[in-house]
Amino acid sequence: MRKIVILGAGTGGTMMANRLCENLRTEIDQNKISVTIVDEDRTHVYQPGLLFIPFSMYRSREDVLKPRDVFLPSEAKFIVSKIEKVDPDAKKVVMKKGTIDYDLLIIASGSRCDPTENEGLLGPNWQKSIFDFYTLDGALKLQQAMRSFRGGRIVLNVAEMPVKCPVAPPEFVMLADWYFHERGLRDKVEIVFATPLSGPFTKPLASQTLKYVCEEKNIKIVPDFALSHVDNENKRIVSHDKREEEFDLLVSIPTMKGAQFIIDSDMGDPLGWVPTDNHTLQSKNFKDIFVIGDATNVPTSKAGSVAHFESEILIENILRHLDGLEPLPKYDGHSNCFIESGFGKALLIDFNYTQEPLPGKFPLPGAGPFTLLKETKMNHYGKMMFRWAYWHLLLKGKDLPVSPFMTMAGKEMPSPVTA
Ligand SMILES: Cc1cc2nc3c(=O)[nH]c(=O)nc-3n(C[C@H](O)[C@H](O)[C@H](O)COP(=O)(O)OP(=O)(O)OC[C@H]3O[C@@H](n4cnc5c(N)ncnc54)[C@H](O)[C@@H]3O)c2cc1C
Repeated sequence: MRKIVILGAGTGGTMMANRLCENLRTEIDQNKISVTIVDEDRTHVYQPGLLFIPFSMYRSREDVLKPRDVFLPSEAKFIVSKIEKVDPDAKKVVMKKGTIDYDLLIIASGSRCDPTENEGLLGPNWQKSIFDFYTLDGALKLQQAMRSFRGGRIVLNVAEMPVKCPVAPPEFVMLADWYFHERGLRDKVEIVFATPLSGPFTKPLASQTLKYVCEEKNIKIVPDFALSHVDNENKRIVSHDKREEEFDLLVSIPTMKGAQFIIDSDMGDPLGWVPTDNHTLQSKNFKDIFVIGDATNVPTSKAGSVAHFESEILIENILRHLDGLEPLPKYDGHSNCFIESGFGKALLIDFNYTQEPLPGKFPLPGAGPFTLLKETKMNHYGKMMFRWAYWHLLLKGKDLPVSPFMTMAGKEMPSPVTA
């Protein structure tokens, strides 16, 4: 029997378990193949929902949590245990609860915040006036702090790139603008966005658009802010070039890393991202290992949409691999994301490795078209519908009416700047 093991039952791992069992049902029934998936806990977090918790748009844990096993196929074995190490030469996974061996491994262990990497962050004001919202506990505590905030300076700081969902930081400041308007406090609140990037986003045209939208909302952007340390007691962040931003409330997006077992197994770069072929999603170092989602080092966004597009390519390559064929270099870096901008509106971006987000229309049979790089109510409805699509379609590994490849249909090339 050939053993396929998936490490991580989050977005990418769950989708792959479903796609594998769907495609290999006969071989599984005949005991020729087994599928095992491992995660350290039993509860799946809908991470895009964490953005809405500080603003009380989603209020509680129940709005973002569901049991993992509901979404996993009955043919797959689900092991709940912490993964401690992978031995790729012996093809073994060491878990807290024992060791399993594999013939083919899928790494889907995602990314995590590591606030210990940021000097001063975890000082006396941590979770008093310094919060994160990339964890459920952080988002819930920040909800309380936002509710009791009556005025002052809110600074959102991205400590270091890459971060998962790089649109969540600009979304946070734009939602903060809306939230304090709604509460009649906007003129008492200064909103600052300090980022290591040269603007609000990683790609030039989208960054320029978001900069304009932020300026319209009176949000101050502090670009090129490479965090040196947090002066926790005196409530200020300090950059390597000695600039300082004072805060009454700091919303930090700490340094992000791959899973600790990747680092401990010497399988990643220093931050724990797994060297992965950009187009086949095969590990660069081990032919029987494939990687999906945030765990890779491929140069596109770390996003659920990316994991979904990757899963469509990966299933084909894994089936080929099982048949003794070479994987196909098909993944183009496609990423797609609604950007919530407050007041019931959102923008939409769609891009890949070579094409940055462009304006125009995004066709979607049955629901669209949506408008690219522009605030619309329709895009907001798309963002809010995403949770339903996530639980009911994406995790189950169903194909959406969106191609895994970026298309130019509906996109407009910006007119060249003339002197
Ligand atoms: C605030 C926020 C907003 C976001 N908004 C969006 C959005 O609007 N659109 C979008 O597309 N994406 C968004 N994302 C990003 C999206 O949630 C992630 O990119 C996606 O979940 C990545 O999937 P993954 O399978 O790679 O990792 P995950 O879904 O994080 O799964 C990784 C799994 O591995 C497990 N694991 C890790 N280490 C171990 C270990 N040692 N032992 C056992 N198990 C382990 C974890 O428990 C986890 O279940 C957002 C994320 C956040 C935090």
